[in-house]
Amino acid sequence: MRCIFADTRQDDRGSALPIISCEDALSVVHDFLDGELPGVSRKQMKAHSDACQRCYPHLHLEQVFREAIHRAGTEQHAPAGLKVKLMELLAEADT
Ligand SMILES: [Zn+2]
Repeated sequence: MRCIFADTRQDDRGSALPIISCEDALSVVHDFLDGELPGVSRKQMKAHSDACQRCYPHLHLEQVFREAIHRAGTEQHAPAGLKVKLMELLAEADT
């Protein structure tokens, strides 16, 4: 699936925020979920993940994974197969 932002970086439609690329979005996703974003605003990340069908599964699953780990860490040990399962989902989302 093509990223809808792939050809729109120079197409200024009056958006207040510059569109970040998929590479930028995915490279800062860990920082985004940790609450720190060097060089990219949370608004930009949110806008990209909301609109980009290519990145959304990655960003969404990363968040779900973090939440699952967090819950597991406070309640019980993380299921051994959880990360493997999420990696499989990410692989499927990429095709
Ligand atoms: Zn994207």
